[in-house]
Amino acid sequence: MAKKVIFACGECHRILEEGIDECNAHPDAHCTGDWQGYVVILNPSRSEIAKKLNVETPGNYALKVNIR
Ligand SMILES: [Zn+2]
Repeated sequence: MAKKVIFACGECHRILEEGIDECNAHPDAHCTGDWQGYVVILNPSRSEIAKKLNVETPGNYALKVNIR
């Protein structure tokens, strides 16, 4: 059986739902299954990681997205 790949948006780092390979906010952005570091950001305005990733919406994000 093929391993299911979860994609992350190369633009906003948001981790997409299973089976989704396109970010709602960034249809043109490159999405990839090659990412590292799963972080849940609940309160972007109080999160250092959110500032670093330029995240303004609560959600699940990848710390690092490898875009070739
Ligand atoms: Zn995005």
